[in-house]
Amino acid sequence: MTTNADRQLVIIGAGGAGLAAAQYAARANLSPLLLEELASGGQALIIDNLENYPGFPDALPGTEFARLFEEQAVRFGAEIKYSGVQSVSRRDGLFVIQTDDGELTSLAVILATGAKHRTLDVPGEKELAGRGVSYCATCDGPFFKGKPMLVVGGGDAACDETAFLANLSDRVLMIHRRNRLRAQKALSDRTLHNPHIEVRFNTELREIRGNTKVEEVTLLDNKTGSTVNHKTSAVFVFIGSIPQTRVVEGLGVKLDAVGYVVTDQRMQTNLPGLFAAGDVRATPFRQLVVAASEGAIAAHSAAQYIDELKGEAYR
Ligand code: NAP
Repeated sequence: MTTNADRQLVIIGAGGAGLAAAQYAARANLSPLLLEELASGGQALIIDNLENYPGFPDALPGTEFARLFEEQAVRFGAEIKYSGVQSVSRRDGLFVIQTDDGELTSLAVILATGAKHRTLDVPGEKELAGRGVSYCATCDGPFFKGKPMLVVGGGDAACDETAFLANLSDRVLMIHRRNRLRAQKALSDRTLHNPHIEVRFNTELREIRGNTKVEEVTLLDNKTGSTVNHKTSAVFVFIGSIPQTRVVEGLGVKLDAVGYVVTDQRMQTNLPGLFAAGDVRATPFRQLVVAASEGAIAAHSAAQYIDELKGEAYR
C-alpha cells in the first residue's frame, strides 16, 4: 500500500473534538489539515456561559473559548481550511476526501463532525422556523426579551438554554414529556428553583400557530389526554441531536442503534485509519471536556497508525 498521500491526517469538523485532535496531531508533527464547513467551535459557539470546562473557574462565553481553542491548535501548526466535505471514500488504501474545493488524499482521517439538533416535526414548526421557532437561545433569545417563551425538552441542553432565556424574561415555560427532568442534577435543580421558569411535566407540544410569527401553541397533558392553548412569542426546541455521519456513508462504518459511530477505546472505528471523536461518537456523556479528550486520544492513535503504515512504529 502506498503512503504517498496529500496529507498524513485530515480531521473533519472543528468543534471541541476536532480542535483538540488538531492540536495534538500538530504537536505529533503530523501537519494535520482541519476541514470545517462553517466556523471553529461547533456546539461551543452557542454556549452563552461555559462554566463546566475544567480549568476555567470563571465562566467564559463559548465564542471566546472557541477562539482560544483554535488559536492554540494553529499555534502548534494545525492548518484550518473552511471547506465543506462531501464524502470520504477509499482508494489504494488511502482515504479520499471530496471537499467543496476539490479532492485530497490522506493516510488517516478523524471524523469529528458532531451532531445537529433534532426537530419535533409538529405542525407549524417548519413553517415558523426563524419566526419564533428556534433551536438556539443565545442566538435568538434576545429578540424575545420580556416576552413569554416556551422551551421543549428535559435534558442538559434544555436546562442550560432555559437559564439563559430566564435572564431575558420572567415568563419562560418549559415543558417536558416525562414526570422529571433528564438533565444532570445540578442543572435540574437550578431550573426547578428559578422563579422565572415554570416547568410543566407530562406535557407535549402538539401544534405551533401564528400568521407571520409564533403566537400560540397547543399543549397536550399526556396523563389526562387534555389539551390547552397557550400564548407565546417563541418556541425553543432542545430535544437532543442527530449524529452527522453523512460524509462516511457507504464506507461501512459501524454505527450504534441510534446512528452514532462505534469506536474502540483508541477512538478507531471498524475501518483501520478512520477514527471518530466527540458528539458523533457513541459515548455515554456528551460534554466539551469529553469531546476534547476524545480528540486528543484520536490524534494519538492516528499518529501510531501512521507510524505503523510507514514502518516507523516504536516497538
Ligand atoms: P438529551 O440528553 O438527549 O435530552 C433530550 C431531551 O429531549 C430528553 O429529555 C428527551 O426526552 C427529550 N425529547 C427527545 N425527543 C423528544 C420529542 N420528540 N418530543 C419531546 N421531547 C423529546 O439531549 P441534550 O439535552 O441536547 O444533550 C445532548 C448531550 O449533550 C447530552 O449528553 C448532554 O449531557 C450534553 N450537554 C451537556 C451540557 C452541560 O453539561 N451543561 C449542556 C448541553 C448538552 P426523554 O427524557 O423522554 O428521552
